[in-house]
Amino acid sequence: MTSGSPSATSAPGANVRVRFAPSPTGKLHVGSARTALFNFLFARHTKGTYILRIEDTDTKRSNPEFLKDIYASLDFLGIKADEGPIFQSERLPIYKEYAQKLLDAGKAVVEENGGIVFKVPFQKVTFDDMLHGPVTMDSTTFEDLALIKADGLPTYNFACVVDDALMNITHVIRGDDHIANTPKQVVLYEAFGFKPPVFCHIPLIVGADRSRLSKRHGATSVDEYRQVGYLPEAFFNYLALLGWAPGGNREHVPPQEIIELFELEKVRTTAAFFDQKKLDWLNGQYLKQLTVPVLADHIAKRLIEAGILEKQYHRRWFERFVALIHDRIRVLGDIEKEQLFFFQEPPVYDEEAVAKFLKQDGVSARLLLLKERLAPIDPFEATAIEEATRKLMAEQGWEPKQLIHPARVAVSGKSVSPPLFETMAVLGHDRTISRLEEGARRGVAVPS
Ligand code: GLU
Repeated sequence: MTSGSPSATSAPGANVRVRFAPSPTGKLHVGSARTALFNFLFARHTKGTYILRIEDTDTKRSNPEFLKDIYASLDFLGIKADEGPIFQSERLPIYKEYAQKLLDAGKAVVEENGGIVFKVPFQKVTFDDMLHGPVTMDSTTFEDLALIKADGLPTYNFACVVDDALMNITHVIRGDDHIANTPKQVVLYEAFGFKPPVFCHIPLIVGADRSRLSKRHGATSVDEYRQVGYLPEAFFNYLALLGWAPGGNREHVPPQEIIELFELEKVRTTAAFFDQKKLDWLNGQYLKQLTVPVLADHIAKRLIEAGILEKQYHRRWFERFVALIHDRIRVLGDIEKEQLFFFQEPPVYDEEAVAKFLKQDGVSARLLLLKERLAPIDPFEATAIEEATRKLMAEQGWEPKQLIHPARVAVSGKSVSPPLFETMAVLGHDRTISRLEEGARRGVAVPS
């Protein structure tokens, strides 16, 4: 916690209770994740309670796969609920009971189709938004408010009010797109005689063209970013910056410090721009700071999941590999794209690289000569490999590019790889030797 004067909302005893209330009708969107994060940060900062509520009364659109995705994405970000998950679908009798109260009070009526509708009194509805200030709306714009639909299921606005009230939610933090719903909810609070919570509507997230972040802009779900290989703490840090700033122009602020610094009152009301470059930069900062063993854990988990690495893998070898590629990756997914040759036997040979560097006069002979010089090296270490290679080039009067480029293609299958001698050392003696042979074999142009 920062010392200094506590703000009104972080005063001890404020007993903050907030909720994140996703509907499992799609994968967890970046915007929803940011809503979850701001609720979580506010709760952690104020030592309050963060509740996860699943709004699954839309039985047609709700799907257990999406629910799994929501859990996995929140888990990835380290957003853990203090209470819940609470399922609205398990609370149907409660909504019926509360609808009955309004019927009994003559404030609601049963429609022909069996649905229950609240008769909204004509009035000006005002609520105070923590970020937007007072918002006033004329209730004539939403005269009849459905509470329970013909199928017996509650509407969003009704279930939301009943739950927020019964769960003693103190602050409703949600996306700007719900501002128009809030007056409808406020009239329901009044009808029940419930005290409304503090509302806090946070800004939309937009893409480069300033329209709401959607598929057109690229990845929109947390899971897609996880798959690309952003680190959880980098993504957490990045999401926190979407509408909030720690001050002092700081951007790289680790999760624990964000919790200490976060102030809901300081969230901006203007749309938050999803800046892919900033996310990439932040991820790079976090990657750089990881120790080899921690990075190795992250990478091993991915590669095992992808079936690229065996569950029982050689840890010491794997850490040497990770140390070699540590500063060559931007996101974890770069490994599967660029460094797969460490895990394939033989590697996949890139045709362009083969044509350019192997299908050249004399290449096969040069690679075989190199193979002979490297074969006796023991231990098979980068300095010894480099020394033998340079000696051979000097003896033969070869330019480095006449040997180094073909050798790189032979061992990696590609024209770009980590430094050659270290790559060979990590591949090890046997694989390097057999790949030089393979390169020599491919270097012989097939007679037409
Ligand atoms: N289920 C609603 C949504 O996902 C919740 C809105 C709210 O927080 O009240 O948009």
